[in-house]
Amino acid sequence: MSKNHIYTKIEIQNILENIKIQKSLKTQCNICNGHGLVKKDPIVCHVCSGIKCMSCKETGFIQLPYETCELCDGLGEYIK
Ligand SMILES: [Zn+2]
Ligand SMILES: [Zn+2]
Repeated sequence: MSKNHIYTKIEIQNILENIKIQKSLKTQCNICNGHGLVKKDPIVCHVCSGIKCMSCKETGFIQLPYETCELCDGLGEYIK
């Protein structure tokens, strides 16, 4: 075998291992699958029937179809 110092298999493996470790510090949120939002069943405001009013904060919904993920705070990933 010629000893040209290009990266050896072991060196490449070490580099890949380091990248893996760096990546694993941040974990994709498995509650929202990295979207930062959780899908919810929307509930239309019963006061205004979705026209928007004060009691639904001008959204027309009591429960919005999406909610910020509580686990990752809407970031889609969290640090372990
Ligand atoms: Zn309303
Ligand atoms: Zn999340």
